[in-house]
Amino acid sequence: MAPAEKSTPQPERQKETPKPLLNQDTALVASEIHLRSYIEAALRAILAVSQDGRIVFMNGHTEEIFGYTREELFGQDSAILLPQRFRAAYAAALRTYFAAPSVRVLGKDIDLAGRRKNGEEFPIEIGLSYVQAQDGVIALGFVSDITDGKRVRDDLAHANAELRRSNADLEQFAYMASHDLQEPLRIVTSYLKLLDRRYQGQLDAEAHEFIDFAVDGATRMKGLIQDLLTFSRAGTRSADIHNVPAEILVQRAVENLKAAIEERSAEVTWDQPLPQVAADAGLLVQVLQNLVANGIKFQKDGAAPRVHISVGAQGSEWVFSVRDNGIGIDPRHAGRIFRIFERLNASDQYPGTGMGLAIAQKIVERHGGRIWFESKPGEGSTFSFSLPPTGSARAATARER
Ligand code: ADP
Repeated sequence: MAPAEKSTPQPERQKETPKPLLNQDTALVASEIHLRSYIEAALRAILAVSQDGRIVFMNGHTEEIFGYTREELFGQDSAILLPQRFRAAYAAALRTYFAAPSVRVLGKDIDLAGRRKNGEEFPIEIGLSYVQAQDGVIALGFVSDITDGKRVRDDLAHANAELRRSNADLEQFAYMASHDLQEPLRIVTSYLKLLDRRYQGQLDAEAHEFIDFAVDGATRMKGLIQDLLTFSRAGTRSADIHNVPAEILVQRAVENLKAAIEERSAEVTWDQPLPQVAADAGLLVQVLQNLVANGIKFQKDGAAPRVHISVGAQGSEWVFSVRDNGIGIDPRHAGRIFRIFERLNASDQYPGTGMGLAIAQKIVERHGGRIWFESKPGEGSTFSFSLPPTGSARAATARER
């Protein structure tokens, strides 16, 4: 074997691994350029603060939102970016932060404010982080101007409060108006009836017919006022929600409709057994009664009304359904029928005030549920409403409202 020194030396170069595109220094510079471009493009003010509270670094957005130039801020006490009243607390918070630096967000639960060079204050949120530099920890603050978000939230809260107030006013008005209208209407009706009786034989037939029209109108108005009163009471009186057997609610609703059921030879049936539900019994009987009454009323000429009530669990809710074999509803009118005084049919064919579904909806929503219907014109309708499960948070909230 030939001695090693005699072997042909391999050129050094061939053993080298391929050269990186950039050496380590250039890579570092590149990554810093990269980082800087991110920091500069950020839509937040990014500031680095040393342990004595001085600003040692900031991005362009800091200039924009605080109105100072970099030259003015560099080396300054970072407290100048806060309103005077926060500065002492800030100095203390900074000491605590440097004792145990961590990553967290300030301003989510408390109202923090920044202060621009022109003295203007604005709401801010601060994300805090830190880096370990050669001569100690540097705190990094990521400051967002949340003026727009806060304004939207404040406006929304304000609009909500306004809406609640005007709703309450409206309900109060409807209640007072319908309550106070009852008495004068009663006087009108009773004097019309007196006129009719006392002047029998003295007035001609036409006069008596006019009196009948007036009594009719007053009676219809009485119905409207009573429904309006029921509607506003459903919104104003506190709901008395307890666990009740649905069987009792259904029985009571059917009992209240006994006259209509007999008159129309209607058949009203329901599932057995029915569950316990969380409800204000009086209010829920009213809902069932309105839905069953509609099922009996909106029928094809001469048809025998058949109405079936079922209750089933859907997800975590109870869903009541009232199915009829009536005239059905064109789905185009879906948005209308739950509004007050809305009716789709002529009142001489199907009498009513157009309040039944509005009352039902209000009561169901008071219970924390929803109401809807499915129907095919000519083939009947199914009105359904949901109730939160007994003992649920939603049932409890409905109880407290
Ligand atoms: P009312 O029964 O006094 O007319 P509602 O508010 O109960 O008022 O109902 C509003 C309208 O919705 C009714 O006038 C009718 O046109 C339609 N409607 C309600 N329930 C039914 C039903 N079961 N079948 C067909 N149409 C219905």
